[in-house]
Amino acid sequence: MAWALTPLTEEQREIQRVAREFAEREIAPYVDEWDREQHFDSGMVAKLGELGFLGMLLPEQYDGLGLDMLTYLVALEEIATIDASVAVMMSVHNSLPTQMILRWGSAEQKKRFLGPMARGEKLGAFALSEPDAGSDAASLRMQAVRDGKCWVLNGTKAWVSNGPQAGVVMVMARTDSPGDRRGPRGISAFIVTPDLPGFHVGKKENKMGLRSSPTVQLVFDSLRVPAANLLGRASVLAGRSSTPRRRRRIVART
Ligand SMILES: Cc1cc2nc3c(=O)[nH]c(=O)nc-3n(C[C@H](O)[C@H](O)[C@H](O)COP(=O)(O)OP(=O)(O)OC[C@H]3O[C@@H](n4cnc5c(N)ncnc54)[C@H](O)[C@@H]3O)c2cc1C
Repeated sequence: MAWALTPLTEEQREIQRVAREFAEREIAPYVDEWDREQHFDSGMVAKLGELGFLGMLLPEQYDGLGLDMLTYLVALEEIATIDASVAVMMSVHNSLPTQMILRWGSAEQKKRFLGPMARGEKLGAFALSEPDAGSDAASLRMQAVRDGKCWVLNGTKAWVSNGPQAGVVMVMARTDSPGDRRGPRGISAFIVTPDLPGFHVGKKENKMGLRSSPTVQLVFDSLRVPAANLLGRASVLAGRSSTPRRRRRIVART
């Protein structure tokens, strides 16, 4: 970029240069082939992690670079100029899954997930949309039911970028009860890992563009997520009553 509305600092220009040279050297020669073949290059995750580009917005205590949003976007722009698919992989990872854990995760969750994510050992994904809940995300149906020390998740997520390669998937599911839906207030976030029994990668979209960024369905068949992987609080309803106003809403911290 030859000009900027906000003049870049020396550090930002240096990061821009590193990102541009990396993209020209490591991505540009393969863009056409990857796009044609719908090939996701797993080695790219490790390389971006080594550069620090998968932890740009994370604090140094989690092996991140502790940089600001503008600096991150300057680097992302350089990657996207060469290959929008790699930029999708990088931006999905750096935005919702890592930032949600950073903002709302417990100390244990941050320690367990953020370091490996910043280093590129675990790629992040975000699973909100469903086959029948796109723009109107609050109508999602995936149900989470508490069972002892686990939550049991059933349902299908759609269009999950990074889905087949992700080591950490931030999943939105309903914790309200089927007889008493609470719209967006009945949804909780879970940190799901692909090693959990019941985790299946489903249909991959054959897209017109961004073809080397995999966009897949994730199917959860009685997937048991440890309660320790619930992000923040879950709103659950108890004391079901025929009079909605008398229902007690218990906010459970688990
Ligand atoms: C390449 C790609 C990657 C994606 N990656 C992810 C991901 O990683 N995680 C994830 O959770 N989701 C992901 N999504 C899903 C995406 O975020 C949207 O949720 C989804 O594409 C929108 O749903 P839809 O396509 O069914 O459109 P619809 O919701 O059916 O909308 C169709 C059209 O109707 C319009 N529309 C919808 N509602 C209204 C309304 N009330 N008033 C007026 N107009 C309306 C929309 O603007 C749109 O033009 C991805 C999608 C794509 C295409």
